[in-house]
Amino acid sequence: MKCLNILYRSSDDLDVLLQMVADVPRDQILIQVYAGGCGRDSLQSLQAVLVNAFPGVAILGATTEGEILGKTTSQNTIVLSLSVFEDTKVKTLYADDSKPEATHRFAKEISAQGATAAILFRCGATDGHLQRSLDFIQAIGVENPGLVLAGGQAGVGDEYIDTFVFTEHFLSSHGSVIATLAGPDLHAESLRIDGWEQIGREMQITRAEGERVYEIDERSVIDTYKHYLGVDIDLAKLQNPTLEFPLTCVRDGILMKNVPVTYHPDGAIEFLFPFKEGEKIKFSFCDISKLHQDLKQMQSRVATLKPDAIFFFSCSGRKMILGNKISDETQGFSHLCDSTGFFTSSEFYSGGNHSSVSLIQNMTMLVLSEGSKKEKPVQWGVPAQQHSEEELQSIKTLKILTNLISATSRELEESNRALYEMAVLDSMTGLLNRRSFDVMMKSELRRHVRSLEPMSLLLIDIDYFKQYNDLYGHVAGDDCLEKVGAIVRDTLLRTSDMAFRYGGEEMCCLLPATDFSGARHLVGRLQENVKAAGIAHERSDISSQLTVSIGFMTYHFRGKSLPDEDTVIQACDKMLYAAKQGGRNKAVGGELTL
Ligand code: GH3
Ligand code: MG
Ligand code: MG
Repeated sequence: MKCLNILYRSSDDLDVLLQMVADVPRDQILIQVYAGGCGRDSLQSLQAVLVNAFPGVAILGATTEGEILGKTTSQNTIVLSLSVFEDTKVKTLYADDSKPEATHRFAKEISAQGATAAILFRCGATDGHLQRSLDFIQAIGVENPGLVLAGGQAGVGDEYIDTFVFTEHFLSSHGSVIATLAGPDLHAESLRIDGWEQIGREMQITRAEGERVYEIDERSVIDTYKHYLGVDIDLAKLQNPTLEFPLTCVRDGILMKNVPVTYHPDGAIEFLFPFKEGEKIKFSFCDISKLHQDLKQMQSRVATLKPDAIFFFSCSGRKMILGNKISDETQGFSHLCDSTGFFTSSEFYSGGNHSSVSLIQNMTMLVLSEGSKKEKPVQWGVPAQQHSEEELQSIKTLKILTNLISATSRELEESNRALYEMAVLDSMTGLLNRRSFDVMMKSELRRHVRSLEPMSLLLIDIDYFKQYNDLYGHVAGDDCLEKVGAIVRDTLLRTSDMAFRYGGEEMCCLLPATDFSGARHLVGRLQENVKAAGIAHERSDISSQLTVSIGFMTYHFRGKSLPDEDTVIQACDKMLYAAKQGGRNKAVGGELTL
């Protein structure tokens, strides 16, 4: 393939492109348009000029917040990128992706093209959120598992006013356009540079609804910013330092950065995409020296791909934070081949084992080459990054500070974890301890009285355990308890189920949102698993193997007052007593409405 990227000022600039496409089949050409500072009228006339000059050629365009052309970055310019393929077919599609059916159809249409790679531009319209874009990109990825996807969300300013995407046929302020590239000898890679690193202690989202986060570690989200970043946040703008130090979670191995969009008077901050309640998050920041290291590695990797063309989709937020350093990122690739791209509101990426995602503050790249690359030499010699003495000194200081914070937080996290485990776990069996049982019982009762869902409790007591100790000794008795604890833990399947050492040789399980048949099923499995373990107990009166007796109870709630915990436990204890009276190695269950 051949590539030519130009700055477009007037239709005279098209001559050089026209020469390149003479005698080339129309469906082997792609023109990408990165249009900064253009309203609807000027885009429509640009579209008309291009369609007129290149009839039947695939055009893919977007409004941009900055353009990349080789070594330079600019703003409010128009960059045209012409790709001429040897044996690859190009097709464009448009979808109004606000409707799930349309998204599904679009994903299917892409699949029908049998494309190796695709470039996607999406338009934010007035929707400042990322979730829709994440869902959309994921849907395409699911339908097209091998597809190499890159591209970005078109966007101008926060409001996405005057933002458009277009093809040779359509121009729209909402929806997505895609160019599919299908060819037997097309090599494509979707790559990604981040540079942001998590820093500081791990926190947890404790209250969130949709995109709104109310509390982090039970502290209001605004106070969390203030506490850790040490500055007041401008509630009207919410920009810095929240952009520079985004909150992040790790999903599928990818660092997902999230930034505030709007402050609400009820104390919530609306984020770009929803954090889930319970999700672990950390602040993150751009470690420049690490970024340069990553860039060097990426440049070497791209060099070995012997690319014919590189397209960059870099976040405009990244440009804002890195300032004039932003061109370092793309410059290091410019000696390899023609390269171009634009600054986006979010970047699309599919790579490795990951499904396709939409990210912010990343730079994604689509690296293309066509045909056999054997003859083409690898272009080594990555240009060195130039730093002043002053810059080198501050990079060094930052590196030390980062290390200091990371080492301190890691140590604190480790000792916190150890303290937490000591406080809530039983050291012999690794099950939750009696104190945890009291706490969880209280909170689960409160929750079930509200939700009106049934809840079940299991009390498990080892049969003739005194005799076991007498025969085998106390140490062997401890080992046996550990084994039974593991069996109980491994029998539970749902993440919400909890197993406790209730005391001595008694264990119990608290099963939220579980009815009688669910509890009975679990009890059956537990009995089977104890039997299958075949722990010898020569002094048991009923078997040559260790057995357990189980009492279980399912509680139904009428949503009235909070039941007394002792009443709840005693009801189950009666069942256990009945199991013992009935000859042991038995399970007895019942139901109780409270
Ligand atoms: P039953 O079938 O009626 O339950 O008889 P049992 O012998 O299991 O019941 P009992 O309550 O009479 O005795 C419980 C025994 O469990 C006595 C105690 O020594 C033993 N036990 C309790 N906690 C531990 C422990 O941490 N380690 C060991 N090795 N034994 C324990
Ligand atoms: Mg007992
Ligand atoms: Mg016992």
